[in-house]
Amino acid sequence: MSETKDFLRTIVEEDLKAGKYEQVHTRFPPEPNGFPHIGHAKSIVLNFGIARDYEGICNLRMDDTDPTKEDMKYVEALKDAVKWLGFDWGEKVYFTSDYFGKLYDYAVDLIKMEKAYVDSLNEEEIREYRGTVTEPGRRSKYAERSVEENLDLFERMKNGEFEEGAHVLRAKIDMSSPNMKMRDPLLYRIRHASHYRVGEGWHVYPMYDFAHCLSDYMEGITHSLCTLEFENNRDIYDWVIETLGLEPPRPYQYEFARLNMNYTVMSKRKLLELVEGNYVNGWDDPRLPTIAGYRRRGYTPESIVTFCEQIGVAKANSTVDVAQLEFCIRDDLNTKVPRVMCVMDPLKVTIVNYEGSELLDASYYPHDVPKEGSRKLPFSKEVYIDRADFSENPPKGYYRLTPDQPVRLKHAYIIACKEVVKDEEGNIVEIKAEYFPDSKSGSDTSGIKVRSAIQWVEVASAKPVEVRLYDRLFKCEAPEGLEDINPDSLKVIKNALVEPAVVDEKPDVRFQFEREGYFYADPVDYRDDAPVFNKIVGLKDSWAKKEKPKPQNKPKQKAQKPVQKEGEVAPMSAEEQGRFDRFTHEYKLNPEVANTLARDAKLADFFDEAVAVYESPVTIANIVANEVAREFKEHPDDALRFGPKEVASLAKMLDEETISSKIAKQVFEEMAKTGKSPETIVEEKDLKQISDPVQIAAVIDDVIAKNPENVAKYKEGNQKLFGFFVGQVLKATGGKANPKVVNDLVREKLEA
Ligand code: ATP
Ligand code: MG
Repeated sequence: MSETKDFLRTIVEEDLKAGKYEQVHTRFPPEPNGFPHIGHAKSIVLNFGIARDYEGICNLRMDDTDPTKEDMKYVEALKDAVKWLGFDWGEKVYFTSDYFGKLYDYAVDLIKMEKAYVDSLNEEEIREYRGTVTEPGRRSKYAERSVEENLDLFERMKNGEFEEGAHVLRAKIDMSSPNMKMRDPLLYRIRHASHYRVGEGWHVYPMYDFAHCLSDYMEGITHSLCTLEFENNRDIYDWVIETLGLEPPRPYQYEFARLNMNYTVMSKRKLLELVEGNYVNGWDDPRLPTIAGYRRRGYTPESIVTFCEQIGVAKANSTVDVAQLEFCIRDDLNTKVPRVMCVMDPLKVTIVNYEGSELLDASYYPHDVPKEGSRKLPFSKEVYIDRADFSENPPKGYYRLTPDQPVRLKHAYIIACKEVVKDEEGNIVEIKAEYFPDSKSGSDTSGIKVRSAIQWVEVASAKPVEVRLYDRLFKCEAPEGLEDINPDSLKVIKNALVEPAVVDEKPDVRFQFEREGYFYADPVDYRDDAPVFNKIVGLKDSWAKKEKPKPQNKPKQKAQKPVQKEGEVAPMSAEEQGRFDRFTHEYKLNPEVANTLARDAKLADFFDEAVAVYESPVTIANIVANEVAREFKEHPDDALRFGPKEVASLAKMLDEETISSKIAKQVFEEMAKTGKSPETIVEEKDLKQISDPVQIAAVIDDVIAKNPENVAKYKEGNQKLFGFFVGQVLKATGGKANPKVVNDLVREKLEA
């Protein structure tokens, strides 16, 4: 059972308790016109998850009523995805196309009841007759046709006697309904196309609004869950079932918010464009948000299901940060996969005082992981390290090998640089080093302090592999399409080097390459004589949200630098520059925040210590550059009542959305004043963020009820009042409501 109960599960439980249904029965109804994506995963996890949680059934139904775009290969892809995610559709897959005959009979019933008619207006006229939101529509003169004439025409439509567009079958409902969808919706249209499954024979195909509710009914579905765009279609759903007088129990439709994710396009149409235009390599390209793509990239089904459960279901649209999905996969693999060494950009190190060779014991798993297993690491005089792990002129804060700073070779010895060998152009081609014989990992008695351990491979035994480094396919948060493609989304390294066990022992198909990220043996291209690894995800979020600093808390660094003139910036010292580079490159901080931290050693140290406790540099940097900086400045002589650890905890609560950013400020102030831990403060003052749409909706209703004049003004077009409503709701919840949810719900309610 999922941890939290969403509004749909609440409905299901109540229906079961009230005896409305004996057993819950859901369905996942994709159209087989493209590969399923992560949005479909949300729907799969929801529908199959509810069936699992309440001992019900979930059908897999191909909603295949549009003959021109559907294909058996998509049916297979959908089945693969559901199965791979760990769900079971039972004995058979259902197809709407299997119901064409029955649906046709239902349409005939409606005609006989004078509830449907053949209309012969053209598309343009139909649109025009429909009216607008503010004006009622008019009914077509063809609505006067007799039952006999309608039956005759409909049958001839089916038999292919008319051109496409000549006639349509419409429900006779209400041309002046405030719900535009109820203005005599189309039930059938003529299509002279062969169906990928049914073949020839049909010249009319049912519309979604007619086919979906009846398919649900025929399959005994109880809860028909669909996305919010279909909210207004619900009236048609109910009308069809009620008008046909179908025996209870009958299904009801409920809507939930579709998944949107930043840096991602999610519509099948756009994905098809990427695939057909060869912008990616097929539907399973590891950069696509398709299930097949994630699978090939190396994501685990568990991580995707966890993600879908974490984001939950709500009734308000919002955009999920793709970093959350990446977090789920990282979290899943962290304790599961062996850690091994891979050098992407080899630089040779010759250890001049080492003779012979040895096999080092190296565990695949760190101590705190409840898994065991190890390999032998060959070690001798010549090894490769990564080029980036040596610096001749290190910036401040560089912890790896330098001419003056030793470093540990992971699982092996500490080495110190003795000589830097360069070619004629001045490029470093080799390092000559010495090792400390008494510094062997696990039995180190050397007493030498090093600040990091780097990956390496032995020259003689290293194996070349191809590594495919994937990055986000789109470079902007809300990509529109092709023009936003990230040109650097795929980088191929042909000759990376791995330690031999990776390809000889093959302890797993997924690995953590130490300090590089998680990798997966490509299931398609991997060959024993030419191994290929896909990067699944980095070890930390390298894209971390670039939050805009809020103007009211802008670091007041100008005041601290009296010699500076307006618009002029003092140059950074080498030390500051080193920090700045590290913060912007390694941690991807935005330059403004990095600048504040880099120029202040005290802040920078505070930041580093907090990140060491909890690795969320962007969130921590924002707190340190604003709140902590202010605290230091306002109480320059007092010791602070909190430290990096507390700030790390605060950041964690923010990241996990336990508290809103507004409340975080309040917690921080309390923390600074009392020295209490942020957890204690949140607990004592009951400051947890409210994200439950039901709870928030109730507050909004209250605010709307209390401000009828403003509602009227807003509806007349005074859009500025939107902020007023959001503000009132936030105020009413003491700032605890999740602003994103409030925004979406207020819009929804005011526009209703
Ligand atoms: P797209 O717009 O990407 O083409 P679709 O809604 O047309 O998607 P269908 O095959 O009709 O795709 O959808 C199958 C099921 O998956 C539907 O119940 C739909 O509500 C659900 N679904 C599709 N996209 C999402 C999404 N982004 N979030 C949640 N559910 C989704
Ligand atoms: Mg669709």
